Amino acid sequence: MSVLEVRNLHVTYGSGNRAVPAVRGVDLSLAGGQKLGVAGESGCGKSTLALALLRLLPASARLTGEIMLDGEDVLTMKWGRLRAVRWAGASIVFQGAMHSLNAVHRVGDQIAEPIMLHRKSAPAEAKRRVGELLQHVGLPAARADAYPHELSGGQRQRVMIAMALACDPQLIVADEPTTALDVMIQAQILRLIEQLVAEKDISLLMISHDLGVLADTCDRLAVMYAGRVVEEGPARAVYGRAEHPYGRALAAAFPRIGDPASRRAPRGLPGDPPDPSALPSGCTFHPRCTLALDSCSEQDQELVTAGEGRRAACVLVGAGTAGRGPARAGAGTEKQL
Ligand code: ADP
Ligand code: MG
Repeated sequence: MSVLEVRNLHVTYGSGNRAVPAVRGVDLSLAGGQKLGVAGESGCGKSTLALALLRLLPASARLTGEIMLDGEDVLTMKWGRLRAVRWAGASIVFQGAMHSLNAVHRVGDQIAEPIMLHRKSAPAEAKRRVGELLQHVGLPAARADAYPHELSGGQRQRVMIAMALACDPQLIVADEPTTALDVMIQAQILRLIEQLVAEKDISLLMISHDLGVLADTCDRLAVMYAGRVVEEGPARAVYGRAEHPYGRALAAAFPRIGDPASRRAPRGLPGDPPDPSALPSGCTFHPRCTLALDSCSEQDQELVTAGEGRRAACVLVGAGTAGRGPARAGAGTEKQL
């Protein structure tokens, strides 16, 4: 059974002519113990999706659809239940640990807080558990007495992970958990997350703009563009040979860590994703797509089956021509994405 099942999720910030449709009809599912990566450039709606999962969005956001967490709809949960689920059901690791940790409290006390609140543990028992959690994430138990500024970026991210693990969640949502770290530390933290979720059989939804990082860590990948999932499938297949031109462009822009190709400068991805409040007509990727047909500016594509366990939203899926050269008449050579 799925730990997480997102159905037709829409999230819009604001209303009227200032409405920002940040997530537009996302369907995702995550089985127990599975690791799903969500990729996409900045502004594609990844964090909005992550925050929606635990209803952590600002009041200006309107949500419709279903977010089934272990069979219960997060969108209709009462507050008390939601509070419990936020730690014990699913927890979130954010990008900038410095902003998520409270600067004036010792990190041990911050990890102890959810343990005392949700598990009703006595202070001594919580303290013991904090030491155990710190050791689990590769820090000495004595670091519990440190303040956030006394720790390095990598150590702070380890503390965030210890907090996320504090109440034994079934699901961890990690939103760009290593983006702020340098490459060596990034690899260490990724290995730590992988090891912990495997050990504890936790499901992982990991978000990154870097498809290579996700391909290394996750079982499945979903690629988001302009608030929608445009491709989804097994990680190796999507990273190695995406069916959607945007997926391919992202894979080329972010080569795998340790891949000899990554020594070359990543190939750029010209242009930017569209502003959600002024989306292009038809397929939202068509203005940047080297393979766009005339019809792509008129008609948007739904996700369709694109091979075993794969879905993609591109007119070329199944046409036998996806990615095999420029399809636009007179386009000449394929522009480098
Ligand atoms: P990502 O995490 O993929 O970079 P976000 O989910 O942060 O994307 O943002 C998606 C879109 O929603 C962006 O256009 C962003 O400007 C907009 N957005 C994010 N947060 C808010 C907010 N609180 N109010 C209005 N618009 C927002
Ligand atoms: Mg984000």
